[in-house]
Amino acid sequence: MIEQTLVVIKPDGVQRCLAGRIIQRLEDVGLKIVGMKMVWVNKEFTRQHYKEHLEKHFYPGLEALLTVGPVIAIVIEGVNAIAQVRKMVGSTEPKSAAPGTIRGDFSHVTYEFADKKGVTLKNLIHASDSDKNAKIEIKLWFKKDELHAYKTVHDMHTIE
Ligand code: UDP
Ligand code: MG
Repeated sequence: MIEQTLVVIKPDGVQRCLAGRIIQRLEDVGLKIVGMKMVWVNKEFTRQHYKEHLEKHFYPGLEALLTVGPVIAIVIEGVNAIAQVRKMVGSTEPKSAAPGTIRGDFSHVTYEFADKKGVTLKNLIHASDSDKNAKIEIKLWFKKDELHAYKTVHDMHTIE
């Protein structure tokens, strides 16, 4: 039940100075930050992270976006954290992302717009989509000693 998931605030989120507001939302529901760092990834790393998308038409734009500036990588822990964070992130296409979600509240572009311009959808944030991928992605982005076990007030009030 208690899961860990990878969140990456992509360069568009960092450059729009939304990191604090995005992290605040995750903390507000009681999710716990167990690891966090700013990294500027290269193309090779991006290929590993997004290997399921390597052959897709949007991959070149996605690689260009992810490597254009630093990202903030976070490991989030909580009850059903993987699905919880995906719910808070919202749909991949900003236009379709519901108000109240991170993508729905802070972005608005469409698949059509991004495809016509030949760019990736700037949707601010990545979050692991399954238990299997969460484990693979956390291992790719974080060493064991960069993850921390500690208690927050939420452990006392909502978990224990
Ligand atoms: N993406 C895009 N065009 C598409 C599909 C995806 O630019 O038609 C980008 C978008 O930034 C998305 C990322 O590629 O967040 C990874 O795609 P995925 O389908 O895994 O979406 P996510 O899991 O991020 O919602
Ligand atoms: Mg995905």
